[in-house]
Amino acid sequence: MFLERSMSQADGIGWIEVICGSMFSGKTEELLRRVKRAKIAKQKIKIFKPKKDVRYDKKKVISHDQNSIKSKPVSNPRKIIKLSEKFEVIGIDEAQFFDDSLVDVCNELANLGKRVIVSGLDMDFKGKPFGPMPNLLAIAEYVTKVHAVCSKSGKMASYTHRIVDSDDLILLGDTKKYQALSRKEFIKSNTTKKT
Ligand code: ADP
Ligand code: MG
Repeated sequence: MFLERSMSQADGIGWIEVICGSMFSGKTEELLRRVKRAKIAKQKIKIFKPKKDVRYDKKKVISHDQNSIKSKPVSNPRKIIKLSEKFEVIGIDEAQFFDDSLVDVCNELANLGKRVIVSGLDMDFKGKPFGPMPNLLAIAEYVTKVHAVCSKSGKMASYTHRIVDSDDLILLGDTKKYQALSRKEFIKSNTTKKT
């Protein structure tokens, strides 16, 4: 598991950690776990999420296991810089819903000495890199890819399959709309759909 490297923050330079994976892979749980440990270390923490993510709560970040933490919803990533001034650890959930400016924002925060923990879907429902995530993965010091359990085979899942019929890139939803699938089951599901 990830070990805190708080000592290196002492030189005034921070870093970026990215937690990525499919839906239900435990990204939010892992973000909450890291934040909880930072809290125990008495660090000042602020969590952000995109304003458009209103699935469970307008203000909280909530995992599928109902663990939660207070967060600040923002529409423009640039706002995060100003709002982070007094904090040492910055958490950002559902990062895939932000635009590409999040990449520069995360770099700026890390350059200002902050520990930046970003969590988000690495792929969309078509299996394509999602929003700013590929660039965030490239600039991060630490990358953790977590995996779900395939709803069909019980094996490791790294894909998010959309069950309902919609072609919109962003369609908020949970187990009624999405399932985690292995590569094999994801290919099967997408081929059956087309025929
Ligand atoms: P994410 O943020 O990656 O969507 P969460 O951290 O919110 O995921 O939730 C992870 C939790 O979801 C797991 O601990 C588990 O209890 C639950 N869960 C539901 N479906 C699955 C699945 N197919 N594979 C793994 N965990 C699942
Ligand atoms: Mg989540």
